[in-house]
Amino acid sequence: MAMNRRHFLVAGLGASAAAFARIEERPDTILYNGKILTVSDREPEVEALAIVGDRIFGLGSSREMLALAGTGAKRIDLGGRRVTPGFNDAHAHPCESGVELLLQVPLEFDSIDAVKGALHAKALKTPPGEWVVGFLYDDTKGARPLTRADLDEVAPDNPVIVVHRGGHTAFVNSRALALAHVDERTPGAADEKYFRDDAGRLNGRIAEKATDHILAMAVRPPSREDYRKGAALIAKRYASRGITSACEADGLPGTLQAYIDARDAGELAGRFYVHIDYDQLEHMTAAGVHTGFGDAWVRVGAVKLFADGSISERTALLSEPYEGLGDYRGVIRDSRADLYEKARKAYLAGWQVGTHANGDVAIDTILGVYEQLQREAPRRDARLRIEHCTFTPPELVRRIKAAGVVPAPFAGYVLFHGEKMHFYGERRLEHMFAMRDFLDAGIKPAPGSDYTASPAEPMLWLRSEVTRTDLAGHVWGGNQRINVREAIRCQTLYGAYGSFEDDIKGSLEPGKLADLVVWDHDIVTIDPLRLLEVKPERTMIGGRWVYEA
Ligand SMILES: [Zn+2]
Repeated sequence: MAMNRRHFLVAGLGASAAAFARIEERPDTILYNGKILTVSDREPEVEALAIVGDRIFGLGSSREMLALAGTGAKRIDLGGRRVTPGFNDAHAHPCESGVELLLQVPLEFDSIDAVKGALHAKALKTPPGEWVVGFLYDDTKGARPLTRADLDEVAPDNPVIVVHRGGHTAFVNSRALALAHVDERTPGAADEKYFRDDAGRLNGRIAEKATDHILAMAVRPPSREDYRKGAALIAKRYASRGITSACEADGLPGTLQAYIDARDAGELAGRFYVHIDYDQLEHMTAAGVHTGFGDAWVRVGAVKLFADGSISERTALLSEPYEGLGDYRGVIRDSRADLYEKARKAYLAGWQVGTHANGDVAIDTILGVYEQLQREAPRRDARLRIEHCTFTPPELVRRIKAAGVVPAPFAGYVLFHGEKMHFYGERRLEHMFAMRDFLDAGIKPAPGSDYTASPAEPMLWLRSEVTRTDLAGHVWGGNQRINVREAIRCQTLYGAYGSFEDDIKGSLEPGKLADLVVWDHDIVTIDPLRLLEVKPERTMIGGRWVYEA
């Protein structure tokens, strides 16, 4: 009897399903009548899939999968919708921003009324005298910058500080200034600036040390509970965008604890691979912990190192000067000797290393370190990472392939940070975010948002990578375009590859985790310029729906 049933499974599903199917198990959920992009080479597109527990049981036609269902199984008609594996944000900083979302007011609005409305709503829920803190504000997005009078109006009984997205400037109300003992006679200084209106009165805009000073009064250190709730909150947001996995790119013990606490409380709707800041290496290693420790929900990632500055703030370390900035070539963060010592310590203790490097000089340096380590102490399949890995002329691409390195490029920067690309120039952009070159060389890039530096929004990533077009319609490095199926593969399967988890997730195959998204449009066939209109309808993690529109 058992033999007969096994025989049926093999005949009906092919070898892939049979490899996982256990004779006594029957699927408890069937998704059928869909367009399911599996990101598996064996069966790239199927109509239906069967799930048992948190895993995929089988793939095939609707008829085949429905025939497998036991009497109690849930049968879900996809109505012809597109399904993909859940997306992976392979470099981001979600936990801290989750805590900020919990305690502060996100102000990503284009209208000053919307900013004021959100602050007013928070003030109404905040006891008089307690701080209201806004973040993610950008004073160039509205018709005019916020003023002290605006903030007095929306929160007459609370001190208010609204911090600019860039982090250096802020906007405060009269109560905040009074608490900081700042009045019209306060002189300020070049690095502690209080801006004034045309009449010479404080207008509420402040900069640098003034921002730090008032912010320190306004923001209390988050508690362990805040961290747990913040991790749960951001995971939920991620799931609502179709992201089911992410790499927390520079974690501290408190970050790791936040995810673990949220998981233990049953509140974590996402899987997190947590890089650990180098300063924590000794403590972690002393406890015997290294990359891979954990489970499918929370796992210890690489040790994080830094070689240079950033692309959006124009501090990446370049061999040729920036365009229009004289002889300026960017900023170094750590010497080769120090990077080698740190990477070696981590590598020999069994860690993956993930080094932040944007400019070609920084990438050359860290590649040299990785090559040396692998010569001195060869390790099979080390998957050493270069976080961002932005500017890679052909010789660097060749070395990345030869060293088996995983680049984690910015997914959405051409689109989201297009107005900054002129500092790098057309010629350099032909080798920046070099997705085409990586794929052609057989490299598996694992792109990410670097959230909050750019939005954690898969449709923005796909549009940026597929069109290489910014918001003004300018094409930057069109030679690096990849097609939408390739982009999806990078953001799902290769994200999992970058965390050594491609054997359990990243594609929809029998035996892998049932992490998937049902989309409201077909993201494979839609005009790529319309991708930003697409939304997830439902997101499933481990066989459970965690988001439904
Ligand atoms: Zn980062």
